Amino acid sequence: MGGNTTERARFDVCVVGAGFAGTVMAERAASMGLRVLVLERRDHIAGNAFDHRDEHGVLVHRYGPHIFHTNAPRVSDYLSRFTDWRPYEHRVLAEVDGQFVPMPINRTTVNRLYGLTFATDAEVQRFFDEVAEPCAAVATSRDAVVAKVGSELYELLFRGYTRKQWGLDPSQLDASVCARLPVRTSADDRYFTDAFQQMPAAGYTAMFERMLDHPLIEVRTGTAHAGESERGRVALLVWTGPIDEYFGRRLGALPYRSLRFRLETRATAPGVLLQPVGQINYPEAHLDYTRTTEFRHLTGEPGGHTTIAYEYPCADGDPYYPIPRPENRALYERYRALAAAQRGVVFVGRLARYQYLNMDQVVAQALHAARASFGSRDASRRRRGAPVAGGARVAGDGGVRVPGGGGARVAGDG
Ligand SMILES: Cc1cc2nc3c(=O)[nH]c(=O)nc-3n(C[C@H](O)[C@H](O)[C@H](O)COP(=O)(O)OP(=O)(O)OC[C@H]3O[C@@H](n4cnc5c(N)ncnc54)[C@H](O)[C@@H]3O)c2cc1C
Repeated sequence: MGGNTTERARFDVCVVGAGFAGTVMAERAASMGLRVLVLERRDHIAGNAFDHRDEHGVLVHRYGPHIFHTNAPRVSDYLSRFTDWRPYEHRVLAEVDGQFVPMPINRTTVNRLYGLTFATDAEVQRFFDEVAEPCAAVATSRDAVVAKVGSELYELLFRGYTRKQWGLDPSQLDASVCARLPVRTSADDRYFTDAFQQMPAAGYTAMFERMLDHPLIEVRTGTAHAGESERGRVALLVWTGPIDEYFGRRLGALPYRSLRFRLETRATAPGVLLQPVGQINYPEAHLDYTRTTEFRHLTGEPGGHTTIAYEYPCADGDPYYPIPRPENRALYERYRALAAAQRGVVFVGRLARYQYLNMDQVVAQALHAARASFGSRDASRRRRGAPVAGGARVAGDGGVRVPGGGGARVAGDG
């Protein structure tokens, strides 16, 4: 564990976890003159957004490809203090029956799969109206997809991918998993339509280094915090780890789906990329990986080597995706009730909320929690060492829309 609790009492705030949630909280606290200790279990900062150079010098994302996009100017404005940006619009193709088709489904997807030549939104809409199979009550993910695009497109593009991703058939998964699935009548093939789609120019880790580079912040990597049993005397504890871990999993473990990554690096002529777009999805059952991502599409780096990440969903490993089932949500709510009774602890971030959240949503949530905990410069100026708000909180979402239910990702999101 990271030093004894008496020694930690010289800090005003102890932040557990150096991902987006913890780093934003630490930076905001320090900006208000508070002394901050950041404890991170892994041997690096940046949480799951961590990137680094592999042995060939290619910038890769260790915990899966991370594409930044947001519609919240306050999030992009805030992060812009710590990084320059490089424009990048993510595109995804799915490989089915030996051909590549855009995801989300759009006009080109329909034309290619059915050998059609639709040229207008109205024609494609008529097609969807014909193939859709409305059901009275949309209860499962299968219902949600079939009600929009019918069972043939569901079988081709969603069923196999979802079964690999979750280890469950879509008919066993909450409808919320697919509820936000976009289906387009236009030929727009961008994966995201957010106003701001840019990647940190020097990478995520470099941005985090700048956020944590403050004389009032001390970062200790390779240091785990045990949660409630190690609460100690620090005025405010910010917990961004798994909420069940904080309580010693006394009500049982919250289940997650995990991923294994295999990275393959190949020599290429400078400027040459192997994939036509950043990400390819593989919905067919005979392959056990779900998607491949070629990092140089995302980073825009030149170079004589290129690295592709293959993703293999699995049951065990790092906690990546909360499994969106009602019983898991109910267990989370019981932990949330315990959290609400804690004094001087703020629970923020994807693991503390047991919810799939995009990076911008976590930043918004942390900015919101920081304002509630430390105030803002415009409000009463806080002196160094002054007490911080003491009540326990499970942070709100800071106004950035979060998906309903407990999770997301069907055919390629996040
Ligand atoms: C495969 C994958 C791809 C994704 N792609 C995207 C994307 O393209 N775009 C997007 O916007 N979002 C994406 N996301 C979501 C993104 O990863 C999260 O929004 C972000 O990581 C959330 O930050 P966080 O700080 O809440 O959690 P994390 O980044 O997980 O940080 C939490 C940190 O706390 C540490 N920790 C936990 N418990 C303890 C403890 N007891 N003691 C000390 N340290 C502890 C962990 O080691 C970790 O470093 C993706 C997620 C996954 C899984």
